[in-house]
Amino acid sequence: MDYNGTIYRPPIEADTFLLPVTEGCTHNSCTFCNMYRDVPFRMVPMTDLEDFLKEVQHAYGHHCDGIRRVYLVGADPFALSAARLLERIALARKYLRNAETFTMYARTDNIAPKSDGDLKALRQAGVDDLYIGVECGLDDVLGKLNKGYTAEETLAQCRRLNAVGIRHCDLLMLGTAGRGRGLECAQATAALENQAAPAKILVNTMSAFAGTPLDQDIREGRFIPAGEKENLAEEKALLEALDLPGLYFWAVHPLDTVRVDGYLPQDRKKMADALEHALATIDESRISRISLEGTL
Ligand code: SF4
Repeated sequence: MDYNGTIYRPPIEADTFLLPVTEGCTHNSCTFCNMYRDVPFRMVPMTDLEDFLKEVQHAYGHHCDGIRRVYLVGADPFALSAARLLERIALARKYLRNAETFTMYARTDNIAPKSDGDLKALRQAGVDDLYIGVECGLDDVLGKLNKGYTAEETLAQCRRLNAVGIRHCDLLMLGTAGRGRGLECAQATAALENQAAPAKILVNTMSAFAGTPLDQDIREGRFIPAGEKENLAEEKALLEALDLPGLYFWAVHPLDTVRVDGYLPQDRKKMADALEHALATIDESRISRISLEGTL
């Protein structure tokens, strides 16, 4: 199968079977992101998908029966209509007959056009654990990031997912509001998340990669990034303001300076103490958030 572009998936899905159903991103214009700049959005044709599954079956034989979890590849495969997603899930089940869960990235504006009946049908088909790029809870910041939706719009769609039993994992980004606004951002983001009620939160730290509009904004003085200590203080304030019993909080992204993870509320203090220790000891002059290479 010819696949155009790099395959990205959440780090916590490292052991999950990857099914390439889309390429690229329907939005492709967040200011901080360069993952799909040269990759137009496209659905992988059903014939190619079936050829891929046949190859997998040929290569892995009866081991295919051990596959329980399937990750649908692409920046936002949930952009496909419910009918198209159900068709692809049915095809996957022909070859992976014990698959239980189908997980993927979903933008807020991928969920909105789907009816409640669509969401229920997808849940019944095994769709669960959608990864949503929430980033932060401040609308002026989301606007500057060119995220394409507001915090209120995200909240409305998360509530619809919760109502039909589709769990979601919200991706948050530290440092989005710039210097001097980290704590304000933490409070707004925690308020949003406490209502959105995700099962998991994944945290990474905003970095300016070469060639992105964010990189340009920093170089030309339109955006002043927070220092590393402010990012850590934002993370600690966020963690302390979350009121989500049972939540898995994961901040182990390669872009995160201090790696913490655990469940709320029992691991909150351990994680907050690790962040506090870093705040007291790191030398932020040695950490640069402007990278010449790399991506999220
Ligand atoms: S951050 Fe996500 S939604 Fe935004 S351009 Fe990148 S892949 Fe697309």
